Amino acid sequence: MKKWLIYFFGLGVLCRSEMCDFVLVTREEWGARPPTDVQSMQDPVPYVIIHHTYQPPACSSTEDCIKAMQSMQDSHQIDQKWEDIGYNFVVGGDGKAYTGRGWSVVGAHSPSYNNQSIGISLIGDWRVELPPPNQIQTARKLIECGVQTGKIRPDYKLYGHQQVRQGTECPGQRLLDEISTWDHFSKTPPFVWVPNEIPT
Ligand SMILES: [Zn+2]
Repeated sequence: MKKWLIYFFGLGVLCRSEMCDFVLVTREEWGARPPTDVQSMQDPVPYVIIHHTYQPPACSSTEDCIKAMQSMQDSHQIDQKWEDIGYNFVVGGDGKAYTGRGWSVVGAHSPSYNNQSIGISLIGDWRVELPPPNQIQTARKLIECGVQTGKIRPDYKLYGHQQVRQGTECPGQRLLDEISTWDHFSKTPPFVWVPNEIPT
């Protein structure tokens, strides 16, 4: 009996470590400024929303991906006056995941969904091109890791940004086509946020 329990928990640990088997760059490692405020979010969340950065453009070296992270934080925190970089996580073309606001923190990426989703952005413009395989693989592992660690609901629904917000091309048609083949992708969002400036 005890032997079986050991096997059971041993497999659990193995699965968990396999799911989180990617490099997660900490805020300290990419030189993030502290957030000006943090609003905590209740786990696990029911939605995962995929973005592309459009700008900054795709990066393939860690040096360039770190520069992209810093420029996004400047844009979001200084120019937009948000509390922090908008996304919960960002994935680079170097195959590494970068901590934005992180788990359990309300983001600024998809109005009406920010307090109930994890927003993941893939650095680059993915309207026509597909992100490289390592970038895609890390994004998928990051989602699975969130499920395994209790941050994302096991029955989560996956959307591309344009599905939940009118008037954006994000995450790019090619990337949207790609994620539509992933588990948990849903064609029917609970609601679509419409910005004021777009006439109905
Ligand atoms: Zn977006």
